[in-house]
Amino acid sequence: MHINSKLPEIGATIFTTMSKMALEYRAINLGQGFPDFNTDPKLLGLVSEAMASGFNQYPAMAGVIQLRDIISQKINDLYQHRYDPDTEITITSGATQAIMASVLACVGAGDEVIVLEPCYDCYIPAIKLAGATPISVPMRAPSPTNPVYSVDWSLVTAAITQKTKLLIVNFPHNPTGAVITAADLDQLEALVEQHGLLLLSDEVYEHIIFDGVKHVSLSTRPALAARSFVISSFGKTTHTTGWKIGYCCAPKSMTTELRKVHQFMVFTVPSPFQHALAAYTGDSSTYLNLPDFYQAKRDYLTAGLQQTRFKALPSPGTFFLLADYSDISDQAEADFAIWLTQTHGVTVIPVSAFYQSSEAPASNHKLIRFCFAKQIATLDLAIERLAKV
Ligand code: PMP
Ligand code: GLN
Repeated sequence: MHINSKLPEIGATIFTTMSKMALEYRAINLGQGFPDFNTDPKLLGLVSEAMASGFNQYPAMAGVIQLRDIISQKINDLYQHRYDPDTEITITSGATQAIMASVLACVGAGDEVIVLEPCYDCYIPAIKLAGATPISVPMRAPSPTNPVYSVDWSLVTAAITQKTKLLIVNFPHNPTGAVITAADLDQLEALVEQHGLLLLSDEVYEHIIFDGVKHVSLSTRPALAARSFVISSFGKTTHTTGWKIGYCCAPKSMTTELRKVHQFMVFTVPSPFQHALAAYTGDSSTYLNLPDFYQAKRDYLTAGLQQTRFKALPSPGTFFLLADYSDISDQAEADFAIWLTQTHGVTVIPVSAFYQSSEAPASNHKLIRFCFAKQIATLDLAIERLAKV
């Protein structure tokens, strides 16, 4: 039976492919981004309590109100913007579903959507499923003087046409760890005012940011908040990537359209997790301690890589860091990642997988992504193997 594919060029994601290969070769999996340690027992207890108390039927379509309330308070405290929990906050099945629903809600045939490459894997398929056209704008690749990827706003401006409807940004940035500054927000404000664009800001790593720097959410600027879907996820913040509880904050008119899609994609998402996260998130130390927690792991892996021929790049945020392997091999990134798994038993993600033209020379900078959301024992074992490469 022939189906006319809506996504003809899409296969299994790089995360699925590399995790499968890691299992097959018994490699240490520093590829797909997930912690190899358990979440707080207190949070687990709260889920059991919620189930025992009978929170096992459909919650409200937009999510458990206690959770929407606590998210509203948290954003007000951190970013000084108040979203109305009734009309502006929607709980979703992870950030992934929030992204898909937002894109489906606001773009269609004839529209162009700008993404900054390298970009997270679900943006372009969402744009294509909506019938719109993805336009990739490359970020500035690292150089000896500027060793972290950065946005070249003049390239973004040059990519805007009459058809541009939406710009998708993601900071702290997967896969590069880059963060943005107030100066970047100034640029964004000027752009959206001049061209009337909508924004989707994927801020799932908002609490994983290092060296004393504070995350600058798009919601901190009224002019940006007024046009943005701001998306986050408890998966990263509470070490529960498998629970798939995320959320989307947007002005009422945008949320109304988002919810029309959301209610027919999933209607609502699991109740006990939402009740537990509402109770847990009331304690702000549960997210305010994350920078220190992950910075120690970043520093540990960076120091460990000094005993190897990989050159770690700085990682200002996320639980990923990039490393340059040009002293070791001339292979393209995807080939190198496969070779490293098969020959040395350490799995990583090629950065080129985050580009539309993943095989093009412009997408291959001899960089691989390590996930350091791992126990020290796991990092030690990986470093020991990497030192032999
Ligand atoms: N956006 C980015 C940048 C991510 O890295 C991830 C997952 N790692 C997601 C979205 C998806 O989040 P979730 O698992 O909550 O769907
Ligand atoms: N976001 C995770 C990563 O970047 C992967 C999530 C997934 O497998 N879809 O590694």
